[in-house]
Amino acid sequence: MKTIGMIGGMSWESSAEYYRIINKEVKKRLGDLHSAKCVLASVDFAEIEVLQREGRWEEAGRAMAEQARVLERAGADFVVLCTNTMHISAAEIEAAISIPFLHIADPTAGAVKAAGIQSVGLLGTRFTMEQDFYKGRLQEKHGLRVLVPDAEDRDVVHRVIYEELVLGVVNPQSRAQYARIMQALVDEGAQGIILGCTEIGLLVKAEDSRVPLFDTTLMHALAAVDLALK
Ligand code: GLU
Repeated sequence: MKTIGMIGGMSWESSAEYYRIINKEVKKRLGDLHSAKCVLASVDFAEIEVLQREGRWEEAGRAMAEQARVLERAGADFVVLCTNTMHISAAEIEAAISIPFLHIADPTAGAVKAAGIQSVGLLGTRFTMEQDFYKGRLQEKHGLRVLVPDAEDRDVVHRVIYEELVLGVVNPQSRAQYARIMQALVDEGAQGIILGCTEIGLLVKAEDSRVPLFDTTLMHALAAVDLALK
């Protein structure tokens, strides 16, 4: 079994989900006493959030690259960054290490395409919904049509992530808002919805949507197990 290197803490609420999913899956595939070999480098999210809010992406990239180096030195065989947003720094991370980096958008897009879906809605932080590092990869590398909510609804999705979900707050009114926003994307032609923020799966479940949901936390964690056991 390979050792999974996880960059976590963004937020720890979702890093805990990664840890749970990865270990459950290893146990399921290898049997009772088996668990995943992993190393976790967990940051203080308050420090990273300031850099995001102030658009200090170079500093954020340096911080992510440093954590990736920590994992490589600690014996990780590959690196998993447990957040969608900070994949904005994917190039800096890849340049900093000589072990593979498992990009979160790739297993997610693979699952979307395997379901026969061409047009997909994307929910995430404002950075993930608006900037090209994520949407662009889904469109150019994977040939998907990506729909995002309108500006007002992007604000709602973003605010719920930073004011509730990363703090472990799961609010039924926010779930209803997300359900409405997902339905608006379906009305525009989305055949599935990517939960492109690693905490959204804590709020939204399959029954909140008329179309299939693709939870990036789940897809990414399972892909990490695939690679660890390959
Ligand atoms: N975990 C979130 C994501 O997947 C948001 C928090 C962050 O900005 O890292 O994008």
